[in-house]
Amino acid sequence: MGRRAAPAAGDEAVPASLPGVTRTVATQLAKLGLKRGFDLVLHLPLRYEDETRITPIVEAPHGLPTQVEGVVVDCDVKFRPRKQLVARVRDAGGELTVRLLHFYPSASRQLAVGSRVRLSGEIRHGFFGAEMVHPRIRTVGENTALPTRLTPVYSTTAGLSQSVLRRAVAAALDRESLDDTLPAPLLARLKLPAFEPAVRLLHDPTPDVPLDALASGRHPAWQRIKFDELLAQQLSMHLHRQRRDAARAVPLGAGTALANRLLDVLPFALTGAQQRALTEIRADLARPHPMHRLLQGDVGSGKTVVAALAALCAVESGRQVAVMAPTEILAEQHYAKFRQWLGALDIDVVWITGSLTARERRAALEAIESGKAAVAVGTQALFQEHVRFHDLALAIVDEQHRFGVHQRLALRLKGADGEASPHQLMMSATPIPRTLAMSFYADLDVSVIDELPPGRTPVVTKLVSDARRDEVLQRVRDACVTGSQAYWVCPLIEESEQLELKTAIDTHALLQQTFPELRVGLVHGRLPTAEKAATMAAFKAGEIQLLVATTVIEVGVDVPNATLMVIEHAERMGLAQLHQLRGRVGRGTGESACILMYQQPLSQLARERLRVIYENTDGFEIAREDLRIRGPGELLGARQSGVPMLRFADLELDSGLLEAARDAAAELLRRHPDRAKAHVERWLASREELLRA
Ligand code: ADP
Ligand code: MG
Repeated sequence: MGRRAAPAAGDEAVPASLPGVTRTVATQLAKLGLKRGFDLVLHLPLRYEDETRITPIVEAPHGLPTQVEGVVVDCDVKFRPRKQLVARVRDAGGELTVRLLHFYPSASRQLAVGSRVRLSGEIRHGFFGAEMVHPRIRTVGENTALPTRLTPVYSTTAGLSQSVLRRAVAAALDRESLDDTLPAPLLARLKLPAFEPAVRLLHDPTPDVPLDALASGRHPAWQRIKFDELLAQQLSMHLHRQRRDAARAVPLGAGTALANRLLDVLPFALTGAQQRALTEIRADLARPHPMHRLLQGDVGSGKTVVAALAALCAVESGRQVAVMAPTEILAEQHYAKFRQWLGALDIDVVWITGSLTARERRAALEAIESGKAAVAVGTQALFQEHVRFHDLALAIVDEQHRFGVHQRLALRLKGADGEASPHQLMMSATPIPRTLAMSFYADLDVSVIDELPPGRTPVVTKLVSDARRDEVLQRVRDACVTGSQAYWVCPLIEESEQLELKTAIDTHALLQQTFPELRVGLVHGRLPTAEKAATMAAFKAGEIQLLVATTVIEVGVDVPNATLMVIEHAERMGLAQLHQLRGRVGRGTGESACILMYQQPLSQLARERLRVIYENTDGFEIAREDLRIRGPGELLGARQSGVPMLRFADLELDSGLLEAARDAAAELLRRHPDRAKAHVERWLASREELLRA
């Protein structure tokens, strides 16, 4: 089972009070994140070794862990092909070779001719007969008893031996209360064993317990542990939400007067899904508690206008809005949109980025501080210390998962005004798969825009080998001379930003040379903001036909006249990234295409990703596949602080347990709040930083 080791912790209180745990041992335990006795109880074995049986050498299966016993009949240090210790061990029916490639002098003593040894490891039956390389060696007597239990193997750290760790765990199991935190009827209903026998079995299983059920996590004892872990997570999310509901925020009106004026000038009507999301947001904003809502909608589904309408709720109530985006290009686009839309309603919009001149910056900061600017758009720079809002009531964060600010942001905003916290609207085009939404995101409310604006034609995706570059160039020319526009995305080079930049510059030069009749632009992350903005504006205005870009254009760029997207070395990119890039086209009424160029040979993973992106257009489906292929790591990047991670349970494999845990959490909080508290305490007290938030 792919269990993850407990996160490292600081050297705080350690279970030095346990018998056999010296200060040195306690320090090593702390390195494993084991601070309290109970942490040791929950430090469950990674696997087990079966040393309860001796197998005759002649019957030992090839390549499987086995224990044999015999007498050393020969032992020699050999120097060919390299220095090694080679011994022969004989039992009643056969003989095997023991080979140690690295050894201490003590090994020669252990393997002295005539001594009786138990060897555990894998036997290989090779050309020279049976052989064990680096087995575990124990010197035994004629009648040394075999252990009656399986031997647990724990994850450990340098200098902390398995036997010391085992003793510490055993001491903790004796010392700690293993009483159940869950009511018996609940366990009976879920067909889960009680806590104490479950942990005891996992630390110390009898030989009759099937090892494969333990290894796969299907054993009921494992099911109980995973359930408990998921339950602790659910409870902590619930408590988180309760705390938020206890916090105060300024209730905002629906902003209907301003909204109607905006809707009048918009060239389109809201889709049903946009309307629904807006209704949900307005209901949240009307409450005297901070909204924490995620507005989720596929690329191009029209989240920005919903955000603008939400902003009007605050503005009409005479308060301020902050709009934050992860990149300057995106912040600039939002600024342009908000200024266009809200400017028409005589609302002051300013923007703050890292690259304003000192004077522009001062003017913007003053407008924010005095309250003259109702809306401030920017990158993370918006939330630095020196930006002081007059009366911030709503923070809108686009592509929230792209920067790990969620938590920091909340803290910073809390500090802004002792009394009330601002409402928060997060936006994301990366759909959160159901299991994640139920677990790691359970403290957020979610609105989904599950409908694209009408009149969009689906993007045709093509996979083209790098060898057919000429055909791709021809398509680019065809698109651009007929009045459309195209993107050319340069390869992602993870190892070197320098190289990535150079490639983009070279590609731009080459394409400009190939297409003398076209205007070819270039944007990359290192370009000064003003230059980036000018290039984007020229592309948007149609003055540039072909835009060469690094992946900086990944999120949010909106140029409806662009109908062709070429992505070089698509095999290097992740699914979410490919989906985002492809979403840059297909925004107008023209037929659009996305050409994914790849270079052979493809790894298995790359082939799988390209298949998924080729076969799916629905961002939700793609995110689900992504989760399957890659695990939740990336999506969770931004959530890491404040949310309990999972060590034992697997969201996809254990989704049944997850649902049970969700229901049980609600029930426990309602009917047995004291037990709920004890349960969280048991599982998460050592991670106290996670409980603060
Ligand atoms: P995203 O959800 O990816 O941020 P945007 O908000 O950038 O999408 O919207 C994509 C494009 O669709 C924009 O040009 C926007 O003006 C347009 N749009 C938004 N809502 C509608 C609608 N209801 N009907 C038609 N076009 C719309
Ligand atoms: Mg957007």
